[in-house]
Amino acid sequence: MTNTFQQLGIPTQLIDRLKKQGITVPTPVQEEVIPKIFKGKDVMAQAQTGTGKTLAFLLPILETIDPDLPHVQGLIVTPTRELAIQITKEVEAIKDENVLSLAVYGGQDVAKQAKRLNGQAHIIVATPGRLLDHLGRETVSLEHVKTAVLDEADQMLEVGFFPDVKKILSHTPEDKQLLLFSATITQKVRSLAKSFLKSPERVTIEPEVVTLTNIKQLLYETTDRAKQDTLLTIMREHRPFLAVIFCRTKRRASKLNGLLKQNGFDSDELHGDLSQAKREKVMKSFRDAKIQYLVATDVAARGLDVEGVTHVFNYDFPQDAESYIHRIGRTGRAGGKGLAITFATPKDRQALRHLEKEVDRPLQRRSLAELSPKKEEQ
Ligand code: ADP
Ligand code: MG
Repeated sequence: MTNTFQQLGIPTQLIDRLKKQGITVPTPVQEEVIPKIFKGKDVMAQAQTGTGKTLAFLLPILETIDPDLPHVQGLIVTPTRELAIQITKEVEAIKDENVLSLAVYGGQDVAKQAKRLNGQAHIIVATPGRLLDHLGRETVSLEHVKTAVLDEADQMLEVGFFPDVKKILSHTPEDKQLLLFSATITQKVRSLAKSFLKSPERVTIEPEVVTLTNIKQLLYETTDRAKQDTLLTIMREHRPFLAVIFCRTKRRASKLNGLLKQNGFDSDELHGDLSQAKREKVMKSFRDAKIQYLVATDVAARGLDVEGVTHVFNYDFPQDAESYIHRIGRTGRAGGKGLAITFATPKDRQALRHLEKEVDRPLQRRSLAELSPKKEEQ
């Protein structure tokens, strides 16, 4: 039986604001997680991409904020700037006006951010590096944090991020509530997480398969030489409405974007070599469908929720199953349909076998010869 938001203890005002966004029935992860968060438990939650994990933590957090206290009470840590900005927008869309929220991320003027922090944020959504900067300068205090969230938790606990995350958490009170969310949580992450969660509740929304069934997953075998033409041919046939095209490196993304533009496609690039202003501009254009194709590195693989993404291309084969799952999860969100097209060159064959084992299903083989736009219509 499905609980309503009301039965989950969400106040009427908040329910009304959700309604305005067309959100009326809680998703399974929201239904399971929200009562546990209200009980004050630490939670480790795993649910597929695009199933509403963000609101599962935001709704209860908004309830615990006391706007009269001039302290940071809710902290959300994310791996990328784009995700921090996106989650802040979600907070802004539903919060009371006296609750103050702020995105804290790199590439922006630190002093300016610090000034805004002095305006006393109640909720901070941050990337680790910049948040540590502020902690070092004492322009932010996490002493009064009630709830901390690691979104994309498995990535936040990887070697690259873990030392920073640990430092950040050491600035928060012992007795805060800690919440971990991701679509992928490996055994290794689980045991690591145990070391700093207090008798956590585990929520796993059991998918039948690791990846979403509403995403059709196709595979084109190609070669390094033929790759560009293969992509152009498929793009010409499919004319995707909005697509994210993933490349292995910043340089490859930039080069491929150039090629697409040369061929008349309305595309732009997103990766870590761009200025922050450019990154924000590109994301906005893509969200507004002013550009149709986003050529990106894995910086866009996690968490980004852009309405209307019909296609994801793995132009370069993903590094591991997790990357595959998150990348293709940029389409087929909130129950919508999507198409994921992966390219494999001869040297990707072993990785492909491994991937198919991990996601527990073979990708459907296609070739340019049989390409017919009608066939893939959804
Ligand atoms: P996840 O973090 O699980 O990948 P998000 O939290 O980004 O997914 O949510 C995906 C999309 O689903 C967002 O556009 C969000 O607004 C929408 N959404 C969230 N909860 C609901 C709901 N209960 N009903 C309908 N849509 C929802
Ligand atoms: Mg998410």
